[in-house]
Amino acid sequence: MKGKAATAPLHLEPGLVIEAPSVSDDLFVSDPMAQCDSLDALAVLVDACRKCPLGHSRTTSVPGEGNPQAGFVCVGEAPGATEDATGRPFVGRAGVLLTEILKAIGFAREDVFICNVLKCRPPNNRDPEPLEVQACSPYLHRQLELIRPRVILALGRPAAHALLGSTASLGDLRGRLHRYRGIPLIVTYHPAALLRNPHWKRPTWDDVRIARRLFDGEAV
Ligand code: SF4
Ligand code: URA
Repeated sequence: MKGKAATAPLHLEPGLVIEAPSVSDDLFVSDPMAQCDSLDALAVLVDACRKCPLGHSRTTSVPGEGNPQAGFVCVGEAPGATEDATGRPFVGRAGVLLTEILKAIGFAREDVFICNVLKCRPPNNRDPEPLEVQACSPYLHRQLELIRPRVILALGRPAAHALLGSTASLGDLRGRLHRYRGIPLIVTYHPAALLRNPHWKRPTWDDVRIARRLFDGEAV
């Protein structure tokens, strides 16, 4: 309905009734993300997004995947090479490990929702820039608003920082129950870090078991 306002007369004529635009009129649609009422619709917006330079350097956007009604959401950092090539989150080596970790606490990948803070791959897997996180995190917040999970698992520091608005070290963030907009949130090591430091597997196991107990509604 674009152009409706432009075609309205610019001067008042006697007897002319000018109706106020209805709330559904395009004139009032300011935030396309808030208008997205499904994860699929949001993924279309992500794919068209060029709000930061990564939108130009990436191959495929990686919005996230899984059960849109998931009670359990895993949030990583950003797509890597395999994710960039396939458009799917956590499908490289770190993804295989994440899938195993989920299985260990009784979840199949399809049961949960898996996504990242950044929806486009940073070149050479470099760390996300603060401006990229700022530009991209509204997509993550909207995803979580649509899914409304029971528990969130933040994988690594960048995910925890983006979700909690914190700058604390991973050591300080782990082993505590956080809340994201009221939703219990547990922070653990990123699976890619576990590939480099296998001795972090044991503490990760402790973290994800706590997350599972929260999901089950048990006291932790
Ligand atoms: Fe848009 Fe996020 Fe991709 Fe940047 S990383 S272009 S903000 S979707
Ligand atoms: N690492 C991430 O943080 N996310 C992915 O999707 C893959 C690897």
